[in-house]
Amino acid sequence: MVAKTFGSVLHGIDGEVVEVESVRFNSRPEIQITGLAGNVVRESRDRIRACLRGLGIDTPSAKLVVHLVPATQKKEGSQLDLAIAVAILAVEGIVSAARIEKAGFLGELRLTGEVVAIPRAIAMMQSLVSLEKLERVFVPTGNKWDASLLRCSKLELVDSLQTLLAKLTQNEWPDSPAPLLPLSDPPAPLAKPMLDYVRGQATAKRALQVALAGRHHLLLSGTPGVGKSLLSQSAPSLLPSMSDLERIEISKIHGRRAATGGRPFRAPHHSVSASALLGGGSGEIRMGEVTLAHRGVLFLDEFPEYRRDAIEGLREPLQEGVVRVSRVGSTLKLPARFLLVAAMNPCGCGYLLSRQYPCRCPPDKVAAYRRRLSGPIMDRIDLAVMMPGMEVREGISHEQAKSSIERVWNIQQARSIEALELRGRTQHWFDGLCSREFLSYRAREKLLRVARTIADLEDRPAIEQQDLIEAWALRCDAKQLVSVS
Ligand SMILES: [Zn+2]
Repeated sequence: MVAKTFGSVLHGIDGEVVEVESVRFNSRPEIQITGLAGNVVRESRDRIRACLRGLGIDTPSAKLVVHLVPATQKKEGSQLDLAIAVAILAVEGIVSAARIEKAGFLGELRLTGEVVAIPRAIAMMQSLVSLEKLERVFVPTGNKWDASLLRCSKLELVDSLQTLLAKLTQNEWPDSPAPLLPLSDPPAPLAKPMLDYVRGQATAKRALQVALAGRHHLLLSGTPGVGKSLLSQSAPSLLPSMSDLERIEISKIHGRRAATGGRPFRAPHHSVSASALLGGGSGEIRMGEVTLAHRGVLFLDEFPEYRRDAIEGLREPLQEGVVRVSRVGSTLKLPARFLLVAAMNPCGCGYLLSRQYPCRCPPDKVAAYRRRLSGPIMDRIDLAVMMPGMEVREGISHEQAKSSIERVWNIQQARSIEALELRGRTQHWFDGLCSREFLSYRAREKLLRVARTIADLEDRPAIEQQDLIEAWALRCDAKQLVSVS
């Protein structure tokens, strides 16, 4: 007789269902695990044996083979303990094989029989509950937060192997439990009105407002000390709170801790390697900063100082919101839909445009500094503004910016088509601008999108010429500084 049940492993950030089969041979008692099991999985047989002994079940009574399907893929993680234990119990005739065929199990076992919570469980739970033939999916009580986020009535919490055994040996499945209600998060610490701490800089504040409202990538340029970092750090507190779907995505990447702490804000140092920024590494795939910043903000200070291969590697995530990470023999696609806020000095020493300090860079050095940002990268940045040393206009307040950004997110989400078409005269003017400035197809589209966001901020149903003019100004301000050779 072959017994079969279901567990799950992580592949990248997604869960992948593993079928756990078990079979019994009349031979010397032992447990064998086959199907490319990793070290942790192979060790589970001793844990499980000790556990079952504690419950008074002496196993194995014969040779038991537990096979993990698909056999071609390596499986790692202690969360398969529970599924393997149940498969063994079924083949020993203690629980009904017909019943566990319609159930999935996740959880690590302690020697006492306690079921321990597992990290980043939500993706694995998702993979199991979306399998139609499964009626129940048992998960550790310690993963209640993850389970409640999915709001699925198939999920049932277990705290120990004893209680699970009691449930599995009942004559009837008890009625399926009501879906868990989402747990309320601990109250977030009151966000500081960071934007109000930036003195003046009305144009840069406007650019940040537009960037966050329409999810456009932003580059800030200016001499040291004008408030580039402070402005960038205020970005996460200006963004709307996360939807349930976004929280699921983020907890697949970070686990629970980060998902309750608001949107990610990542600020890797400019010495970061390309693989740490983009993801990769030999052996286990490591998520890069671009994935860790998914649905949040990636802040790159001193942008031209980053390694060339790291900067160029940003092309794909900036354009498509995903990053392809390759390792031996396979490529993995990871989410990377972040908002880039980059900051740079106008030259190597930082004082090129300063009225207070003289710039000490020779002209060829200035050109070389700017050439580090290639055309394709600059093309993918929607807004680029120059922050002058002194700008006294205060501009928008933190509260105003925050509420306007949320309003535009709602408007843009509710819109089924993109509404990028222009009216007759505006179109004519825009065509003139495009041909005069030799705008690429991508540049045109980006310009239109930024203008759409500005129109939304101003509550205008159609894009008008003034929106395009502001979008063009915000796009070009600092680009002239970068593109001179
Ligand atoms: Zn300089």
